[in-house]
Amino acid sequence: MNDVNCIFCKIANGEIPSQTLYEDDTFRVILDLGPATKGHALILPKSHYRNLYDLPEETAGEAMKLAKKMAIMMSERLGSEGFNLVQNNGDLAGQTVFHFHMHLIPRYRADGQTIGWKPQEVTQEELEAVKEQICQE
Ligand code: AMP
Ligand code: ZN
Repeated sequence: MNDVNCIFCKIANGEIPSQTLYEDDTFRVILDLGPATKGHALILPKSHYRNLYDLPEETAGEAMKLAKKMAIMMSERLGSEGFNLVQNNGDLAGQTVFHFHMHLIPRYRADGQTIGWKPQEVTQEELEAVKEQICQE
């Protein structure tokens, strides 16, 4: 279940070397080559899935368990005081490599990074309408 044109398939399966923090049968965790902060890492499944929509439920659950384990281990070792999990799906959402991955971003005081969005004004009626749209039968 690999894509011959996918760089993360090659990295996850060890065909391209990487700074690997963790590996098991399902995942490899590597350091990001363009880190937001010291220790910025990526959880890569060894099988190719484009994004969260395609990822099997079981693998999604395992990825989150691994994220928790890595967050604790990395925070202890690096002395980071906060932690962002970031996971982009689709180019509109900022995904640039179309092999599912989860960013593990340790945060430090005054690290100069902002990961966020501009909050929009919204009325209760608008929230209600959105809820109806999402929760319709
Ligand atoms: P995204 O924008 O969510 O698709 O994230 C892609 C991430 O992959 C970026 O943070 C890149 O810095 C990182 N990246 C791209 N190529 C490599 C590579 N060969 N090794 C490690 N990280 C990479
Ligand atoms: Zn791939």
